[in-house]
Amino acid sequence: MVNLSKYIVVTGGVVSSIGKGITSASIGRILRSYGVNVTAIKIDPYLNWDSGTLNPYQHGEVYVTDDGMECDLDLGHYERFLDTELSGKANITTGKVYSSVIEKERKGEYLGSCVQIIPHITEEIKIMIRDVAKKTKAEVVMVEVGGTVGDIESQPFIEAVRQLKNEEGHENCMFVHVTYVPYLKAAKEFKTKPTQHSTKELRGLGINPDMIVCRSELLLDDNLKEKIAHFCDVPKNAVINTPDAHSIYEVPLTMYSENVGNIVLDRLGMEKPNKADLYEWSQIVEDLKIESPKVKIGVVGKYIELEDAYISIREALKHAGAANKVKVEIDWIKADNDFNIDSLSKYDGLLIPGGFGERGISGKIESVKYAINNKIPIFGICLGLHAMSIAIAQLNGHPEANSTEFDEDCSCPVIDMMEEQKKINNMGGTMRLGAYPCKVKEGTIAYEAYKDSQVSERHRHRYEVNNEYRDLLTDFGAVISGTSPDDFLVEMIELKDHPWFLGCQFHPEFKSRPNAPHPIFKSFIKAAKDNKQGKF
Ligand code: GLN
Repeated sequence: MVNLSKYIVVTGGVVSSIGKGITSASIGRILRSYGVNVTAIKIDPYLNWDSGTLNPYQHGEVYVTDDGMECDLDLGHYERFLDTELSGKANITTGKVYSSVIEKERKGEYLGSCVQIIPHITEEIKIMIRDVAKKTKAEVVMVEVGGTVGDIESQPFIEAVRQLKNEEGHENCMFVHVTYVPYLKAAKEFKTKPTQHSTKELRGLGINPDMIVCRSELLLDDNLKEKIAHFCDVPKNAVINTPDAHSIYEVPLTMYSENVGNIVLDRLGMEKPNKADLYEWSQIVEDLKIESPKVKIGVVGKYIELEDAYISIREALKHAGAANKVKVEIDWIKADNDFNIDSLSKYDGLLIPGGFGERGISGKIESVKYAINNKIPIFGICLGLHAMSIAIAQLNGHPEANSTEFDEDCSCPVIDMMEEQKKINNMGGTMRLGAYPCKVKEGTIAYEAYKDSQVSERHRHRYEVNNEYRDLLTDFGAVISGTSPDDFLVEMIELKDHPWFLGCQFHPEFKSRPNAPHPIFKSFIKAAKDNKQGKF
């Protein structure tokens, strides 16, 4: 078999949340800078089929791909770092693997054999990994195995990638193990024992890492690297240190300076097609360091205790800040308990993110009214657009206006469920999901931002602006600045006589990249900057 793709498998040890996703994405970014065609896969060993039904408090944001898969947030890091569009197939879960195996078993595809974890589940995992490689024709596929080595759930995946290496050949598959090296302040010492133990655990599962990436608070010195190399049986130059960074976008630069590009390309027997070009990336990192002027953005949301719940919004705001040469300071404001409308006066711009359920909705609607009355730039995304539409209808003489998401029997349902959605009553995957085209009306903020009359944006919702109530909105001065190409669905609304008011039914944050900030976010931050400078 001709090998088209090479694989870099990334595992994690010691503790979770040490940034395996960022590490894999950074290796991918470095390879991209050499001109290598890279894609990425995230393996999530949980039993859920996809991330759609996961509570954002537990798992952070649900990321949506163009093809409409509800995925782990790491896919967002991959898309942002690799500047590419991934398919939902890039997120492999235990749920998907087992569903597929059971479906095959029901069809009799295993010809009477007893279906087992080895070989059937591991075989299915390899099929899914190779399928991504084949479809993307990537030269290198980053495969991040979620969880921590030793977890029961991840064992079939670890076994599958072990087999993958044997089948693909040593030169076509390498293993990177990401660990945490704690610093004990009292002893003034780094401790390498957890790294030694987790590497031992990995080796016990038949995988010898080729590279150890050590996450730490501070820089590790040469002696420590030597010690880790010695105990973990990797060359000393393959012990890579990634101390805490000012921003996640610095990690590719740190890893590049640790010679990761050369080590990986050598290990995989790949020629260096070009010199690495990280110039644009380092410029972005510089722009992200800007400390002044500052603009203050209040995000009036619900899942504010866990910042990861709005990670793409945070990143998109940062990208837009760098593009406008300002530092964006974000305050996460809880729209329900203790919500104080007067606290909004200190913000240069407000953003109402997407969300589900009634909690906090009245705080969001009040925030929209406040922004209208005080002429503060305001940006509503999905549920944010719903809150804007309800607020406008209420201000236009219909205090009873609401969404049927919150009051099924509402007598003025400005937001309602689409007929097709009503027929679906399962929870998982029943929304309008993924990329849909949007027609942009000339002479609007949206058109000025996109400079295009047709765009494509990602969706994740069940409810829509109710067409029967369009006039109630436009009578108040609302402008429908984006619709589906057949004009049937409202995609964006704006408000005349307001410096910057835009709500969109889609989630533009998923398409913002550090090197290509999303046009609407960029326009919003420019408006917030103008507001701060008293231009309105
Ligand atoms: N809950 C709303 C709906 O389902 C909005 C969803 C969202 O903000 N992503 O339509």
